[in-house]
Amino acid sequence: MNYAGYFHRLLLVDLASGTSKVWTPPAELWERFLGGKGAGLKILYDLGLPGDPFSPENPLIFMTGPVTGSPIPTSARSCVVFLSPLTNSAVDSHAGGHFGPALRRLGLDGLIILGRAEKPVYLEIRPDRALVHPAEALWGQGIFATERALKERHPGAEVASIGPAGERRVRFACIGTGLWRQFGRGGAGAVMGAKNLKALVVPPGNEKVPIADEQSFHALNRKLVEDLLAHPMRKKREELGTTMWIRLAQEAGFLPTRNFRECRFEGFEGITSQAMQRELSWEPRGCFNCPIRCGKRARFDGLELEGPEYETTAFLGAN
Ligand code: SF4
Repeated sequence: MNYAGYFHRLLLVDLASGTSKVWTPPAELWERFLGGKGAGLKILYDLGLPGDPFSPENPLIFMTGPVTGSPIPTSARSCVVFLSPLTNSAVDSHAGGHFGPALRRLGLDGLIILGRAEKPVYLEIRPDRALVHPAEALWGQGIFATERALKERHPGAEVASIGPAGERRVRFACIGTGLWRQFGRGGAGAVMGAKNLKALVVPPGNEKVPIADEQSFHALNRKLVEDLLAHPMRKKREELGTTMWIRLAQEAGFLPTRNFRECRFEGFEGITSQAMQRELSWEPRGCFNCPIRCGKRARFDGLELEGPEYETTAFLGAN
C-alpha cells in the first residue's frame, strides 16, 4: 500500500565511490516501524551491524517520521541511527531545528550514508542524488564557521556539520545543525568524521508532505494548535525554556548534583531560568513550525548562542 505521510524515497550514498541513488523501501518498513528511529534501526539491522563503529560499513542513517515537515506542531525532529563508538551499540540521536523538514521539502524521507571518502568532502543533497564536493578547506573549522561558509555558498540551504571533535573521532562528538541544534547522542559526529564527511547541505525544495485526507488533517491540526496555544505550560516553556526544570527538579528532589550522589543543589538559584533571563538577555526561539518556542537565543560577553538547555545546565552545573 502506498501510504501517505511518506515520499517512499530514501537517498543511498556511497562515499567510497561517490555514487548515490534513490531507494524505495518496502511498504512493510513504514507499516511495522513507522519512521524515524524505528525504521532507522530496522535498516541498520538489515544492513548488519559492523564490528567497528569507525569502519566504512557503519552507516549514518538520517531518518524523518511521517509528520516531519508537516504543519503539525513540533514536527521539526529528525534522527540519525548508527553503531555508537561510545557504547558500541545501536543508537538513535535526535535534533530539532530545520534539517529534517528541509529533507522532506526535497521529497526525501531520509539518507543512508555508507563508505568512507578518501579525502574530506561535503554532500549537497538533491532530490535524486548527492553531489560530492571537496571539503579540505573546511576541515579543522568549527561547526559555526563551517555552517556559515556553506550557507554563503548555498543560499537558503540547511546544513548539518561536524567540527574538530568529530574529525578527531572524539567518541561523544555531535553533529551540529542550524548552528545551535545537535544530534548529540552516541558520537554521531565521530562516525561522520571517520567517513571524512564534513557536512551535509540540503538546498531549498518545494515538496509537501503527502496527506491522505487533507480536510480531516487540517481540522485536527487546527484543534491541536488551539489547544497548544491555550495550554499554560506552553507559555511557561516559551518564557522559561527547558531550564524551568531546574527549579522543579530541586523542589521534587531529582536535580542531579555532585555526580548524582545528591538530588538537591544548594546553589540552584544561580542556574535557574530566572538567573539566565537576568544574565543572558534571552529571547525565545523555536524549531520549524513550533509554537512552543522553548529554545532561547542568548547573548553573553559579545557572543550570540542558543540555550542553555536543562540537561546542559543540570549536568554541567549542579552535577
Ligand atoms: S522549540 Fe522546543 S518544543 Fe518546539 S520542537 Fe523545538 S525543542 Fe521541541
